[in-house]
Amino acid sequence: MVKLQKPEWVYLGGKIRPWDEAVLHISSEAVTRGLNVYEGLKGYWDEDGVNFGIVAMPRHFARLQRSARLLHIPCLVKYPEFEKACHELVRRLYSPDRDMWVRATLYVIEGHWGEGTVADLVLTAYHQDKTPPAPIDIGISTWQRATDVTLPPRIKTSANYQVARLARIEGRGRGYSEMILLNQWGRVAEATGACVLMVRNGKVVTSPPSEGRLESITVEIVADICRSLGIEFVERPIDRTELYVAEEVRLAGTLAEIVPVRRIDDFPLSEKSPILSEVSARFRAAVRGIDPHPAVDLSMVTQNLSQ
Ligand code: PMP
Repeated sequence: MVKLQKPEWVYLGGKIRPWDEAVLHISSEAVTRGLNVYEGLKGYWDEDGVNFGIVAMPRHFARLQRSARLLHIPCLVKYPEFEKACHELVRRLYSPDRDMWVRATLYVIEGHWGEGTVADLVLTAYHQDKTPPAPIDIGISTWQRATDVTLPPRIKTSANYQVARLARIEGRGRGYSEMILLNQWGRVAEATGACVLMVRNGKVVTSPPSEGRLESITVEIVADICRSLGIEFVERPIDRTELYVAEEVRLAGTLAEIVPVRRIDDFPLSEKSPILSEVSARFRAAVRGIDPHPAVDLSMVTQNLSQ
């Protein structure tokens, strides 16, 4: 999980500025209605701490555009400008001993109920430990994922994380750092900040976006990695009780990476996780550029000698 950090620089209003200058007006729809769409991107150093690459940047930008479109937020930024801005901010803040998580947010700074909407791209970037994620215990929340006719889960907007926050608060009281949200049919939607991967009968299974999960980029990558390793990957609805008897369970997301799950509610899972360990190791080798994989495209942040 990202620890609260206060980096020196942010990107806002088309340029890099000191952290304290990143302010929004209280009357903006970004504040009054929590109106924004965002992406979380992850950047990794290679083994020698020389090259730094951000994973799947075009796909993150495409999802940002889709989220914006669905909420009628004009996204005037084009991909080259987005990539350049991410690189500039990362270059200001990175240090070879830490990876980074970049949050790219379109905040609605002008407009009223969908008229005259103007959004500003804001980038913040935070340091991340390089260590692989440790196994966690998780619970199933009593809170439910919203639906496509209430608050579409495919839109990555802060409003969709209100329920996630309630679920995490609920989980913390029970000793869990992550929680799974069920959908309106009582089936598995996703975790609060990651998707669910389960192994049953030797196949890797995840629920489809129509079950109320985000259209996850990490899941797309995992699916491609599975195929290249000869492991069957299936998207189909998942019952809650299937998780309790699954051969393996992990969570998958950009920030979370591929996290082993040790226990769900009162059900301990097997300590062995041969299939998802293999997938996870392949994922890590690809994002660090040790063993490139076609599913993992890296946008390389080069040193800017003119700065
Ligand atoms: N579900 C939710 C609710 C998330 O916040 C995330 C993280 N973005 C994911 C799933 C995983 O998506 P991705 O792999 O694209 O990061």
